[in-house]
Amino acid sequence: MPDPLTEVSMSNPPEINTQSLLDFLTQLLNTPSPTGLAEPAIALTELTLASIPGLKLSRTRKGALVASWSGEREDGPRAVTAHVDTLGAMVREIKSNGRLKLTRIGGFAWNTVEGEGVNVFSSKGRQIRGSILLTKASSHVFGDEVNDLKREDGNIELRLDARTSSEKETRDLGIEVGDFIAFDPRVELTGGFVRSRHLDDKACVAAVVAAVKAIAEAGLKPARTTTLLISNYEEVGHGAAAGIPADVDELVVVDMAAVGEGQNSDEFHASLCVKDSGGPYHHGLSNKLRKLAEKNQIPYKVDTYPYYGSDGEAFWAAGGDVAVALIGPGVDASHSYERTHTEALVATARWLVAYLLDE
Ligand SMILES: [Zn+2]
Repeated sequence: MPDPLTEVSMSNPPEINTQSLLDFLTQLLNTPSPTGLAEPAIALTELTLASIPGLKLSRTRKGALVASWSGEREDGPRAVTAHVDTLGAMVREIKSNGRLKLTRIGGFAWNTVEGEGVNVFSSKGRQIRGSILLTKASSHVFGDEVNDLKREDGNIELRLDARTSSEKETRDLGIEVGDFIAFDPRVELTGGFVRSRHLDDKACVAAVVAAVKAIAEAGLKPARTTTLLISNYEEVGHGAAAGIPADVDELVVVDMAAVGEGQNSDEFHASLCVKDSGGPYHHGLSNKLRKLAEKNQIPYKVDTYPYYGSDGEAFWAAGGDVAVALIGPGVDASHSYERTHTEALVATARWLVAYLLDE
């Protein structure tokens, strides 16, 4: 006869606290963290994980956050990763009119941030507000040129909310070449949707934290000793190249699923990505995740992403000898003004719970 307690814990996996997931996600989205200046988001995640018993927290020299979680078994250790760094920009040049020429951090098109409010972080610790505009922004001044101008580096500038009309006045504000720029996320929770910039990949960091909390609060530990890596250089391609122990058997990367024409993913499911620009992921681990989703009735889709790379490939390229799979919530208009739904976030977190507890 089966042990009734085991029966209960098998049939009722720990539940995700949706409100707490959304609260943390909102806080994280409102914490600026362009690649290279992701420390505030790393620190916030560290503070949140620090309240969970059983996790041993440390930082890599590159500044990523590592949480080691001892499991029911020491053999066949695993890793899970998600990234807190986001798209952003940097001052490339101070123009003679006092405005700033920019260089992009990460892969995005200028039109996706045209008109957006920003914070400029001076190296001296000062923050100045501003916005991203076309060099010929006003239709009253430039007519059709506003429409026709190519959205490229030379035609985009940052207007500071400060009195400056010369290079010197801008420098006197403490602004210099190399200062970081973060775009306003404009977070809005409406009708179950979460609309914001940078759901890539803060949605997944929140899902990972929610899954870990659910397991810990149920008084459980992962089936295998697990390393959680919150990486800080993913958007430029080398986030998880370091920080994952060399002896892990499996790495589950948690990153957004691409939604749009021709894609199988949507905002109400978690997706398993089986191939992206870097080629196929590990078939065996992907199948294991499919089976877990089916067994636990997790709403999921399987998809391939045509223009996409992940931290799993970064670890593979760095020599990681490990099975890698990729899951994550569907995010509409990725690397633009993004949106997902709570159902996809919870599905992703539940999938992680199932994976972490799977023997
Ligand atoms: Zn991402």
